[in-house]
Amino acid sequence: MTSSSKIQILRTVQQVRQWRHQSLINNQSVGFVPTMGALHQGHCSLVAQSLKENDKTIVSIFVNPSQFAPHEDLNNYPRTLDRDLEILSNQFKNKSIDAIFVPKISEMYPNGIVLEVDKQRGTFVTVHGSSEQLEGVTRPQFFRGVATIVTKLLNIVQPTRVYFGQKDAQQCVVIKNLVKDLIIPTEVRVMPTLRESNGLAMSSRNEYLSKEIKDKSSIIYKALCNGENYYNDKIINHNQNSVDSKKIIKEIYDLIKQEPDFDIEYIAVSHPETLEDLDQVTPGLGAIVSCAVKVPKENSNEKARLIDNIILQ
Ligand code: AMP
Repeated sequence: MTSSSKIQILRTVQQVRQWRHQSLINNQSVGFVPTMGALHQGHCSLVAQSLKENDKTIVSIFVNPSQFAPHEDLNNYPRTLDRDLEILSNQFKNKSIDAIFVPKISEMYPNGIVLEVDKQRGTFVTVHGSSEQLEGVTRPQFFRGVATIVTKLLNIVQPTRVYFGQKDAQQCVVIKNLVKDLIIPTEVRVMPTLRESNGLAMSSRNEYLSKEIKDKSSIIYKALCNGENYYNDKIINHNQNSVDSKKIIKEIYDLIKQEPDFDIEYIAVSHPETLEDLDQVTPGLGAIVSCAVKVPKENSNEKARLIDNIILQ
């Protein structure tokens, strides 16, 4: 990044507070996009929306340790700060973002942070009821970590609006509950999932995949669309009042199963607000249909875990 750039890089809580104070004095709205970096067009779509809706926009880049279990990919998570700063500086032509918050771990966790939950000390935020199902089944500490870091970030930035991607559907529900329950004066904005041309949801974790596996992984979105088509057909062409969730799940399962190296962790049809399993999907209420699939990583015996979802209306 050049020194003539208008974008301020803020590294401490104190610096963000000063920056925020100035916009408060000027009566300017502030949009905030929290990210873990390794930016792609999905992140950029959130930034673009924030630029549209707010006087000022701030993006954070922080790989949050507390949402990773000890066996997960914290150490290998893609970190591409120089490229990220480049993208944030050059991508937005009409209006520039104003600040990027890149804190050290010690800034966000002044008492330090270990990944083993039972050894952690201090204050953590748990959103009971929407954190345990779906992603929470195999990642029991994930949403506690997410809710904790988002609470800290919202306390620091105090944005008018905060932007999240529908790609992480359960995260959106958890954050909406968090903001409502803790009476945080910020509007939560959820933006559509951006996809590669083959339909694969953009994700920083796609960097783990070879071109071949990226191509094959497009089957995940195709399968979700099969589920959606099945639902729409029953409602529109067969005049059904509701559709059996198991049948929607089967449509999705049968297609993903055609990839022998893919492991389906879950496919779920959930209430859009509570995330409870739905036996039937009814127009009006609709549903979130989500899945997690493990696919082979490039040059490794390990698998990468991809998540995706669609909304039934
Ligand atoms: P992450 O850096 O993975 O924590 O993501 C930061 C934000 O970008 C989250 O709100 C994500 O939901 C959002 N995001 C990630 N991928 C996409 C995508 N493909 N489309 C839209 N938003 C996304």
